[in-house]
Amino acid sequence: MLIFKEGIMKVNILGTEYTIQRRSEKKDPKLEGKDGYMDSSTKEIIVEVFEEDSDSKRDLEYYAKAVIRHEIIHAFLFESGLDTCSNSHFGGWSENEEMVDWIAIQFPKLQKAFEEVGCL
Ligand SMILES: [Zn+2]
Repeated sequence: MLIFKEGIMKVNILGTEYTIQRRSEKKDPKLEGKDGYMDSSTKEIIVEVFEEDSDSKRDLEYYAKAVIRHEIIHAFLFESGLDTCSNSHFGGWSENEEMVDWIAIQFPKLQKAFEEVGCL
């Protein structure tokens, strides 16, 4: 499945509607230095429209899907009430990028495993 590149997609995050939009870094300076972000105040998930160049990953849409999953996990954590107050010395665990990425990357495999044993 090809991920959309323009327009707005909607996703329900625990009862709250979020929009997902793809933007270029030129159009949205907040994308500078990152591939996407979630804004809990406007209920937006923004994912960069990646430009192909010599440094870029070969399958940019595969990567875009992982970034979208990553930002959706941030939104799930926020809507669960798990935000900046999660307990840690170096930023809250719910904002820990490695943990969020682990869920986003492993989720398709977790889903497959859950479906295999019918425990969803
Ligand atoms: Zn993140």
